[in-house]
Amino acid sequence: MYKYRQQLEYIKASARRELESNIKQFKSAIVRELTYIYKNENIKDLEELKRVLRKQFQVPPAEYKIIDQIVSESQAQISGIWDEYFQKLGIDYESVKAAQAVQFHQLRQDHLAAVESALDNAIRRGMDYKEFRAELIKQNVAASNATTLANTAIAQFDSAYMHEVCEQAGIEEFLYDGMPAQRPFCQQHLGHVYTTDEILAMDNGQGLGGLTSLGGYNCVHFWTPIID
Ligand SMILES: [Zn+2]
Repeated sequence: MYKYRQQLEYIKASARRELESNIKQFKSAIVRELTYIYKNENIKDLEELKRVLRKQFQVPPAEYKIIDQIVSESQAQISGIWDEYFQKLGIDYESVKAAQAVQFHQLRQDHLAAVESALDNAIRRGMDYKEFRAELIKQNVAASNATTLANTAIAQFDSAYMHEVCEQAGIEEFLYDGMPAQRPFCQQHLGHVYTTDEILAMDNGQGLGGLTSLGGYNCVHFWTPIID
């Protein structure tokens, strides 16, 4: 298993690097989208921008495409590695629909929430749009969100794919595995073995299932199937 896990972590790390190298582009795409709305709707102040955003904000298509592409490529590589691992063990399974278990539709909501909280901040500090825009460019608003979500989506796929194969193969025990944990939730579970039902009942407090997301957003831990 160790060799396969190393390969899986390598794929995740490469995707992370690729996403991070696109942060500048993500950021300008979001700022462009905001500026477009601000100008075209003839908006007077930031309060009004905030109201309008709720209805109109889109994740810019160019940005979405990059994220989607990096995630899809990583998913294909990840499923390839799991296929090889299970084939080596002589475990046969039919088809896996893991991509559906990935909660990637969160992207728009999370971007909007990040922009709104930046707007609230700007309103409190009495900024105008020009200052707000400069502030957004300076910070990683929304861009870091995009990478968090994409990282999480890739990890979710890794986990969902493995669990689906295991379900088909009748494997029901999993080790909460990985490096020493920072989060209390991960500390509590790391190194322990759980059944699928126990995993499904876990609550990491982030609204993401324990089966696909373990400790939640950006969690670096993973499930290792217990196979005798
Ligand atoms: Zn974790």
